[in-house]
Amino acid sequence: MKSFIEYSPSTDFPIENLPYGVFTSPNNSEKHIGVAIGDLILDLNVISHLFDGPLLKSKQNVFKEEKLNAFMGLTRPHWLEARATLQRLLDASNPTLQNDKELRKKAFVKQSDAQMHVPAEIGDYTDFFSPLYHATNCGIMFLGTDINAFKNWKHLPIGYHGRSSSIVISGTPITRPYGQTVPAQSSIPQFGPCRLMDFELEMAAFVGGPPTALGERIAAKDAEDRIFGLVLLNDWSARDIQKFEYVPLGPFTSKNLGTTISPWIVTIEALRPYIVDNFPQDPTPFPYLRHDDKFNFDIKLEADLKPENSSEATTISRTNYSYMYWTVKQQLAQQTVTGCNLRPGDLLGSGTISGERPDSLGCMLELSWNGTKPLRLQSGEERKILEDGDTVTLRGYCINDNGVRIGFGKCEGKLLPAVPLD
Ligand code: MN
Repeated sequence: MKSFIEYSPSTDFPIENLPYGVFTSPNNSEKHIGVAIGDLILDLNVISHLFDGPLLKSKQNVFKEEKLNAFMGLTRPHWLEARATLQRLLDASNPTLQNDKELRKKAFVKQSDAQMHVPAEIGDYTDFFSPLYHATNCGIMFLGTDINAFKNWKHLPIGYHGRSSSIVISGTPITRPYGQTVPAQSSIPQFGPCRLMDFELEMAAFVGGPPTALGERIAAKDAEDRIFGLVLLNDWSARDIQKFEYVPLGPFTSKNLGTTISPWIVTIEALRPYIVDNFPQDPTPFPYLRHDDKFNFDIKLEADLKPENSSEATTISRTNYSYMYWTVKQQLAQQTVTGCNLRPGDLLGSGTISGERPDSLGCMLELSWNGTKPLRLQSGEERKILEDGDTVTLRGYCINDNGVRIGFGKCEGKLLPAVPLD
C-alpha cells in the first residue's frame, strides 16, 4: 500500500494505521473528526460526502459530529467500510482526492498546527488491574506475598469504576493533589499535598457498537464487535492518598485528579496484524469469560521522564501490551456480566502494564521498588517518585518485519506543584 501523501518510513501514522481523533485548527475553531496520515490530518468533516459505500452512504453525518461517539456507535461492518474507503482515497493510484486541488487544500491540516481534543464523550470509565506482573509486584509490596493473596485475581478481571470527567488529552498539565495521608511509623492521618505522586503506564479500549440495554450481557466470545480501538493512558496516582483511602472500597480520590489519554484512537483493524497469543490462563475461567480466538497485541510501550530544568528525557521503562493476563474481551464480559449497560465511547483501562524485568515496570512505585531503589536519570538526578515539574511521556507502537509501524503518538503530561489552600 502506498499513499500519495509523503511521509517518513518511521512515522507512527502510515496508510496502514489511520487512527481517528478530534481536532481544531487555526482556521477553524469547530471540532472536526480527522484521521492521522504522516504529519498531516485528513479532515473527515470536509470529505464526508466521499463515504459512499453501501453502509455509510446514508450515515455520512457521523463524520460531521464534534465527537466520535456516533461513528463508534455504528457497527463493525461500518468501521471496516470507513477504513477501506479511507485507504482507497489515500492510495497513490486514486485520483479522487489526489487530483482535486481545491478539496485537497481544505481536507489536509498539519498536525503541528492542530489542537487535539478528547475524541469522544466518555460516558463511563473503568480501570482494570489485568497485567500479571503488576498485580504480582503490588501483591509483594502491599501484602508481602504473591498474586495468590488476591484470591479473586485469577478468576475474574478486577477493576474499579473510575471518573470520566477528569480524563484529559495529552499535553494537559496535572496538578499535585491534596488529601489525607498517614506518614510512615504513624497511625495519625494528616492533611496536605500528596508526597508520593506516580504515573501508571496503561492502554485503554474505547467501546463501540450501539448502546446495550440494562440487563443485557456480552460474553467474551461475542465481544469482537464491541471494541473500537486503543489509546495510551496515564492513570496518574497519588500513592500515599491511595494507601489510606483504598481499604475497604478501592481507589477513590487518589485516581480522580486527572487521567491522560493519547489523542489518536488506533483501531483494532489496524492492530490485527500484530495479534499474539493470549496469556495462558490457569485456572480456566468460567464460560462467560472464555474466548478461543487470539486477542492480545504485540504493542511496544515506553515511558520517558524529563525533569523541569533538563533538556533530556530518560526512558525509564520499556514494556509490552502483551503482558495482559485478561484480554479486553474478557474485561468487557466482566463489565457487563451483571447486565451493566454499555454506551459507545465508554473507556476500559488496562491496568498498569509491567513486564518481568526491572526496567520494564509501568510505574514509579515498581520501578523504584517502593522507594528502595532510586532511578538514575540522564541528567544525573535521582527519582524514587515523581517531583514537581517532571514531564511523563508514554509512547507505543507495533512494528512488522517490513518496518511498517502502527504508532499511537504520545501521551504526555507535566506535574505542576500543589496549589496552596487559603
Ligand atoms: Mn490504574
